[in-house]
Amino acid sequence: MRYISTRGQTPHLGFSDAVATGLAPDGGLFLPETLPQFTSADLARFAPLGYADLCFEFLRRFATDIPEAELHALIRESYTRFTHPEIAPLKQLGDNLFVLELFHGPTLAFKDFALQLLGNLYERQCRVRGEKINVLGATSGDTGAAAIHGLLGKPGTAIFILYPDGRVSPLQERQMACTGAANVFALAVDGSFDDAQAALKELFGDQEFRTRHRLSAVNSINLARILAQCVYYLWAWLRLPEKIGAEAEFVVPTGNFGNVLAGWLLRQMGVPLRGFRVATNQNDILWRLFTTGDYRVSSVAPSLAPSMDIQVASNFERFLYYSVGRDPAKVRAIMEEFKATGGHRFADFKRDIFTASRCADAEIPGIMQKIHRAHGYVCDPHTACGFKDLATARPSVVLATASPAKFPDTIKSAIGVEPTDPSLEALKSRPLDKHKIPATPAAIRAFIEAHSV
Ligand SMILES: *Cc1c(COP(=O)(O)O)cnc(C)c1O
Repeated sequence: MRYISTRGQTPHLGFSDAVATGLAPDGGLFLPETLPQFTSADLARFAPLGYADLCFEFLRRFATDIPEAELHALIRESYTRFTHPEIAPLKQLGDNLFVLELFHGPTLAFKDFALQLLGNLYERQCRVRGEKINVLGATSGDTGAAAIHGLLGKPGTAIFILYPDGRVSPLQERQMACTGAANVFALAVDGSFDDAQAALKELFGDQEFRTRHRLSAVNSINLARILAQCVYYLWAWLRLPEKIGAEAEFVVPTGNFGNVLAGWLLRQMGVPLRGFRVATNQNDILWRLFTTGDYRVSSVAPSLAPSMDIQVASNFERFLYYSVGRDPAKVRAIMEEFKATGGHRFADFKRDIFTASRCADAEIPGIMQKIHRAHGYVCDPHTACGFKDLATARPSVVLATASPAKFPDTIKSAIGVEPTDPSLEALKSRPLDKHKIPATPAAIRAFIEAHSV
């Protein structure tokens, strides 16, 4: 299988190179040249498989440059640190209401599904090519923690994660800064997330520095992240009663559109998922797109569901590529217009497949209370956005993207119960190993010079 860029000006790459490259050099995002099709016979064969074996059956169609036995072992290893035996348990709350819990990985958010795997792919790359790799990223919380736990202690790698000092939750900070691993550097930046992001962009723009330290970016546009996320949709669909599987809408708490895109791609591969609900918080660029056809940036208002606080949805470009008939010239034109004017209006959007909802911040506690009262279920603030305005006539599968234990204060004030998790409790007694650093490219550069592998 080969991988193309949505902007059509990058030579085709194999799987491992596309994963190692991240963002395509022409500014586009990588996609498979063709999508494999799963037949009903394939799906019947998949039904009895455990999570890691299902993931292997899926990814072997894509990671064709990794020997199968090696790929299988790498995938098995990637899901050993999940604490639930089913990895992604599907729970039924009512006749027509299901929750797919995606928060049983090491950092208690769905990003572990992709980043545990990506960490192992990076490690393999280092081993096979005899190279070292320094991973660099900026985070407002969940991505940094999941990336760190994907690379924890892996030989040949170091990971540097910048975050705004005092502006991630104390538990998220502890997940990044209390690992005790010598290859992990949690950098508390004196500034905002945007300052950290801007400094990072400048460092990645310096080709000499980037090449000398073999810097790799960790962000939500990596091809491996999207493919790893397709698997839990397939897993859930295989577990739904037949009649419900054909009717169910997957409700996805959405920020950068990576998670919804994964489900939609799986549908393009012949798995008969009925459709998707794009559930945003008050930062609602995607809700506006799917209700009006207008895709337009606005400012970000910090919310109780911070991992969905985005201004533009970086993975949207992959969907756009298919929407314009896989024409890279059209993608380039729309992305240029978007960059220049901050928006683009689409004449026609696939309303039959996508619905959308928007959850204002003030509504989140009330939704948590309602779900707790009706079903005895405690959900985190991101998942709460998914429970907004559910159709009762149609079955829904709400993707639970984070554990309630990550957001104890919001939940305690909403429902009076403080959720806990043993892994987070253990963190509270460990020493905090963070490096305070100014948000300047010079300071970050000096730190990497001193600590890179
Ligand atoms: C990252 C994240 C999201 C948003 O996912 P996207 O792939 O960016 O749409 C939602 N919920 C939680 C808890 C997250 O960490």
